[in-house]
Amino acid sequence: MPQLEVYCTVKNCDYWGKNNHCLAEKILIVNDAQAAAWPDSVDAPDGAKLESSEADTCMETACKTFRPRYSHAGPVQDQRNTDAHLAQKFPHQ
Ligand code: SF4
Repeated sequence: MPQLEVYCTVKNCDYWGKNNHCLAEKILIVNDAQAAAWPDSVDAPDGAKLESSEADTCMETACKTFRPRYSHAGPVQDQRNTDAHLAQKFPHQ
């Protein structure tokens, strides 16, 4: 399984961690039209089944996994955004 580190500067997302690490286990990126049309319930677990799309620039893409801090899905940020968790997940830093 490929390892991917996602850096994100959207610090009010519930998955955002120190040093701009995304702490989600998986994320879903979609184009802006899909982001606007699909409900919040469509997220990374559905990823393999979703219709593919295109974008011309990075400005036309969006993270569908974004959840405001302290939303119904959280608070992931408080559970995982500790020095111990980050050292385990990102041991080379
Ligand atoms: S889930 Fe998306 S918006 Fe939230 S921290 Fe990760 S990459 Fe950023």
